[in-house]
Amino acid sequence: MRVTILGSGSEGNALLLESRTTSVLVDAGLSHRKLVQRFAAIGRGAPKDVSAVIVTHSHTDHAAHASTYARRLGCPVRASEATLQSIRLRTSVEAEPFTVGRRFMVGDIAIHSHALPHDAPQVALRFETKVTTVGLATDLGHVPKGLTRFLGECETLLLESNHDPDMLEAGPYPEMLKRRVGGSLGHLSNGQAGDLLAGMAHAPKRVVLMHLSETNNSPRLARNSAEAALGHQGTELLLAQQHQPLELDPARDQQLQLGI
Ligand SMILES: [Zn+2]
Ligand SMILES: [Zn+2]
Repeated sequence: MRVTILGSGSEGNALLLESRTTSVLVDAGLSHRKLVQRFAAIGRGAPKDVSAVIVTHSHTDHAAHASTYARRLGCPVRASEATLQSIRLRTSVEAEPFTVGRRFMVGDIAIHSHALPHDAPQVALRFETKVTTVGLATDLGHVPKGLTRFLGECETLLLESNHDPDMLEAGPYPEMLKRRVGGSLGHLSNGQAGDLLAGMAHAPKRVVLMHLSETNNSPRLARNSAEAALGHQGTELLLAQQHQPLELDPARDQQLQLGI
């Protein structure tokens, strides 16, 4: 499965997953214009044949442009019932709910969901094809029971590493926002992400740190924390960015798809 992260962070999230036969966009927090620009930056046109826009939760940095994506791509928006109830989709857009905890298929991709603790109903997602598994968990205040196992078989794991607690504490956010971000329904700190990684029975082949705060974190701190947790297990570690796309090694994925 080819994974392209178009942007990750509180100013907008979107990523594209492509199996051999099926493409899905996950989250719609970047404007369509920005989405096109991000694809252009990696020498690609915006995808045309997308089977679904999947929205993890209702916050605007994930859901604001769901109607536009769906209308332009001619595909449904898929989200949990709770999320669909709180995002305003245009009436012309087809909304297809999925049940949290129950597997559903989009083309040849099997998608599993797991509830996450956040200040809106939120899910982690696991995407499986015959050849690989990709996990996504961002926007969670703490690691809930069962999540480490849910993500356990992932070859590629896209995991939030939002903030460094000391930087958050000393930073410019108002007190209420500090408590929200650092609270149990907020965002995952570097240390919490590290604890999840350290607790996995098998280290993923590749970990991408997601949703880094530009105010309350630094790429170096996030990377150090994840590296310390992973030890020397040969896991490839990457960082997603807010303003730059990240294309995960397409050549290697092609080899995986061909089974070589
Ligand atoms: Zn977010
Ligand atoms: Zn959120």
